[in-house]
Amino acid sequence: MTDAVVDGKLEAVKQATKYVKETENVAEKYSAMTVSKNSDMNMNVGELQSAAFTAVPTLKPIKKVRSKAQSTPRQSLASSISASYSDSSDDETSPRDKAQANSKGSSDFCVKNVKQAEFGRREIEIAEQGVESPLSGIYFLASAVFASTVLIETLVALGAQCRWTACNIYSTQNEVAAALAETGVPVFAWKGESEDDFWWCIDRCVNKEGWQPNMILDDGGDLTHWVYKKYPSVFKKAQGIVEESVTGVHRLYQLSKAGKLCVPAMNVNDSVTKQKFDNLYCCRESILDGLKRTTDVMFGGKQVVVCGYGEVGKGCCSALKAMGAIVCITEIDPIWRHFTLLKICIYLYFLQYNSGGRNDMDGFRVVKLNEVIRQMDIVITCTGNKNVVTRDQLDRIKNGCIVCNMGHSNTEIDVASLRSPELTWERVRSQVDHVIWPDGKRIILLAEGRLLNLSCSTVPTFVLSITATTQALALIELFNAPEGRYKQDVYLLPKKMDEYVASLHMPNFDAHLTELSDEQAKYMGLNKNGPFKPNYYRY
Ligand code: NAD
Repeated sequence: MTDAVVDGKLEAVKQATKYVKETENVAEKYSAMTVSKNSDMNMNVGELQSAAFTAVPTLKPIKKVRSKAQSTPRQSLASSISASYSDSSDDETSPRDKAQANSKGSSDFCVKNVKQAEFGRREIEIAEQGVESPLSGIYFLASAVFASTVLIETLVALGAQCRWTACNIYSTQNEVAAALAETGVPVFAWKGESEDDFWWCIDRCVNKEGWQPNMILDDGGDLTHWVYKKYPSVFKKAQGIVEESVTGVHRLYQLSKAGKLCVPAMNVNDSVTKQKFDNLYCCRESILDGLKRTTDVMFGGKQVVVCGYGEVGKGCCSALKAMGAIVCITEIDPIWRHFTLLKICIYLYFLQYNSGGRNDMDGFRVVKLNEVIRQMDIVITCTGNKNVVTRDQLDRIKNGCIVCNMGHSNTEIDVASLRSPELTWERVRSQVDHVIWPDGKRIILLAEGRLLNLSCSTVPTFVLSITATTQALALIELFNAPEGRYKQDVYLLPKKMDEYVASLHMPNFDAHLTELSDEQAKYMGLNKNGPFKPNYYRY
């Protein structure tokens, strides 16, 4: 990549920024669409899409904008092949006790082994499907899964400054963290952090003298929580929080309700594209991957209970059903999202008059966990709630049952209660523990009750491209918004941007959308360029 090409690329980004600013009057209207979660407001502001967004360059690999200074020297192919790929378990020394520096002499990071940078660089290249955006001036703190590396590098290449920590103690890929540290991003994360390490990393990420963030990019809310608790002065300058997970968003709404939210926050979890790809489709694939890699289980004929039938639950259920498992679900909410009113009526009728079965319209039995716990071969939680599987239920579970969690935090299964003297823990594989009762009964606990797929499998790069694009747009929107557009509240990503993220990824499927004719648009009361659905529409 010549300097001229890099300069040309950045020039294109600058032009896009200028263009976006010139269309500010349109953007003003458009911002009115960004409504709080509970609002039904839907404004027809399709003109913005064609004006501002088409000016922003679309998906381009990050290497096209990475500066020379950031690129890592390449090893020869022969040396890379002969070296082992991902051995992070060889060195038991805590990264906290190691003195490390990258090739430029910086030690403002803490990773497992910075020498693994070259391997991580290859991982990043595989995943590179970044989005380019005008971000010069953003100083942001990020707590994210390492799948977001491409996002971070893209933002940094475009002028943002970032300090980064992991949002989950198992989800870090050590090589990728090393590659980031090598390029000069202060990153504090390694796979298998202890609880104490986790908070230590967050603190090192935030607490840097002379460095003041103006944006927070979070996944789970722990980083935001820490800043609130320990460094509230950060919010004097901060312009916003972008939050990706159900759990983190829930915490933000609680803060907002209590009148304690200090800055505007963007809820990207509930953007439709993110929900579908990250929660539904990704989990549909990675639940099988995670279970296979850890247990080699055969799914056919196995009795499985999935707790929580949201997007993640639906993904898990459909994958397991397709593999021949007998799946039932638990829910607290009678209205699962895909239900129309008619379906609910049919369902209630069914409940009342058909004593033999309580099925949802997708064909899964809806049960109480207590009723089925003794028969289940696999128990999976994905509610975002706490104590969904209690110690009492774990006591009654059948011998050999696999117990795991797909929800964000490790509170869904009461794992803490299993750390009691009468139970024996046996580590049989990485991320696989046998917990053994005095009578010999054992359960197979995966990832100590933490996110199974992020701990034990990988995330498809396509999904991370969708998520990264959504996060980048949310950051840009909050950062560039004129004063007063957003108040100290939680906002959904504007529908228009959501549709834009989807449209950027359409070419990957060779999908060709039908355009509305003028007559059809008028008949439907839509702008030809979208948004095509009201905010309350459930996809
Ligand atoms: P969701 O809100 O769509 O679904 C959760 C469902 O659980 C809801 O229908 C809710 O009614 C139900 N529920 C709540 N408490 C329950 C209980 N005690 N028993 C039974 N059901 C209960 O959320 P989602 O998008 O499906 O996400 C669920 C969790 O998964 C969240 O914690 C989220 O952060 C996490 N998540 C994980 C991944 C992953 O890759 N593993 C991806 C996205 C989200």
